[in-house]
Amino acid sequence: MSSAPKPSILALLHDSPLVIASHNEGKVKEINALIAPLGIKAISAATAGVDEPEETGDTFAANAALKSEYSANHTKLPALSDDSGLVVPAIGGGPGIYSARWAGPGKDFSVAFERIQNELGDKPADAHFICVLALSIPHSLSRALAGTYIFEGRIDGKLTFPPRGDKGFGYDPIFIPENHDITFAEIDPATKNSMSHRARAFNKFLDFLKAS
Ligand code: IMP
Repeated sequence: MSSAPKPSILALLHDSPLVIASHNEGKVKEINALIAPLGIKAISAATAGVDEPEETGDTFAANAALKSEYSANHTKLPALSDDSGLVVPAIGGGPGIYSARWAGPGKDFSVAFERIQNELGDKPADAHFICVLALSIPHSLSRALAGTYIFEGRIDGKLTFPPRGDKGFGYDPIFIPENHDITFAEIDPATKNSMSHRARAFNKFLDFLKAS
């Protein structure tokens, strides 16, 4: 008697596009470059005709899952989302899931740097970046594989003030990754991109797909 073959998420992704739960076409392009070698194609939530939900979760994973589940439910396609930020344990984990908001409506990160430096005072300047990816498979596509799969990447380091470097974005100018003495904004971008929290989360995601 032969048993049915085990369903594979990679095979499922070969048959339908992966919706990236973001309207940022730059992010979609970057993700397409990472998944193309596996024969998967991504489209943005905007292309799939779905809006972005409010991020009401209280963890990176909750917010990532909320976004991927929203896109998967509305499109009936597999969906991938990410949520990321800087965590400073000595100031209660801030800015954490509020990393974008601490820079204010003008996205002025000098405001966020000043707030962190003031709250930190003489406390330890250990910090880490987190990136959580969430992949949601809708029930209508596969009962056996339906659900949300979470992949977390993290890079440890410490903060430095005043900010240094102009190569990065967001909190890069105040973050020195472990085993380095320059900030993420001073490091060559290709090197940052190979060691970052985002790269680590994506490597886990790609390894999972290859093994599925
Ligand atoms: P998200 O788009 O909701 O995930 O917001 C992430 C926020 O965290 C961004 O606005 C950045 O400020 C910050 N962030 C995430 N990853 C990085 C990074 O690699 N370097 C610097 N800041 C980052």
